Amino acid sequence: MLRGALLRVSRSDKIKHLITTAPVTSGVVRRFVAGETSAAAVAVTRRLVGAGLLVTIDFLGEDTNDPSRADEVVVAYLNLLTKLRESSLSPSAEVSIKLSALGLHLRDGPQLALDNAELICRAARKADTAVTLDMEDHSTTDSTLEILRTLRKEYPETGAVLQAYLYRTESDCRDLAEAGSRVRLCKGAYEEPDGLAFQDRHEIDKSYVRCMKILMAGNGFPMLATHDPTLIEIGRKLAEEHGRGPKDFEFQMLYGIRPTEQLRLAKLGHAVRIYTPYGTDWYGYLIRRLAERPSNLGFFARSLMTKS
Ligand SMILES: Cc1cc2nc3c(=O)[nH]c(=O)nc-3n(C[C@H](O)[C@H](O)[C@H](O)COP(=O)(O)OP(=O)(O)OC[C@H]3O[C@@H](n4cnc5c(N)ncnc54)[C@H](O)[C@@H]3O)c2cc1C
Repeated sequence: MLRGALLRVSRSDKIKHLITTAPVTSGVVRRFVAGETSAAAVAVTRRLVGAGLLVTIDFLGEDTNDPSRADEVVVAYLNLLTKLRESSLSPSAEVSIKLSALGLHLRDGPQLALDNAELICRAARKADTAVTLDMEDHSTTDSTLEILRTLRKEYPETGAVLQAYLYRTESDCRDLAEAGSRVRLCKGAYEEPDGLAFQDRHEIDKSYVRCMKILMAGNGFPMLATHDPTLIEIGRKLAEEHGRGPKDFEFQMLYGIRPTEQLRLAKLGHAVRIYTPYGTDWYGYLIRRLAERPSNLGFFARSLMTKS
């Protein structure tokens, strides 16, 4: 409930201004975001890869409302991929993209987002790495999966994200649990209506387990994106049951969240990929991270009140 309220309130321009200009915000942002520039993202990637982790980098931004901004996002990814190639960090580092940042909501949005995503997939292929399409709110699920299908004809290594909180996701898992398919399974970070999504945390967890079972039993490459200790343990057991080794699935977590657990799993021999965002457009991302954890939010709200 608190999560939903925060996600709703965060749409206000006044709140956005308050949060983005408060001096205390930068400390909170630093916890979750690698930095503002591609150089900062590459430096963090080098550190994570040196520690035995894998990385997926996200250039922050979403809901682009101007085609020239979508072009800028493409250019940022192309430059980033060149840097990753030159510093030999790919294939340990791949990239994650949001189709709304590539123009999905503009006129002729699906075609524009597809064209832009293709440019990034081509550059990723050249850098010997891959792209994963982030999943945004439910209004984009069908178009994202449609674009994924088209991209995978030429770039079968392209990954997708499915959100366990949506009722439809078990069925989407079945469709995508095929050879060569890379599916990142997460709980889901947006506010979704009752009619489409589980609201109860326990129901979401049960759905996550059902989806994991489908993906682990299938022929694709499951990417278990969660920090939840119970789900991680169930994931480990399912992998064992299905004879999946470190090359056959991976765990994924967000930069700055449970870093000790990230290293522990890697030391046990698991592939662990860290979703590492960078850029100046961090507002939406930060709010979703705060909304996931009432303790993050309480800490942040107290700091705002004492310092402003
Ligand atoms: C690699 C990756 C990619 C993702 N991509 C998408 C996407 O494309 N679309 C989408 O909707 N969602 C995405 N998410 C977010 C996801 O949907 C969840 O909102 C988020 O991961 C929290 O869920 P959880 O599974 O960690 O479980 P929770 O039950 O939320 O958390 C389990 C435990 O993890 C820790 N934790 C979790 N979140 C936080 C936090 N913000 N701050 C501090 N501690 C925390 C706490 O210890 C908590 O008890 C992604 C997550 C990951 C890891």
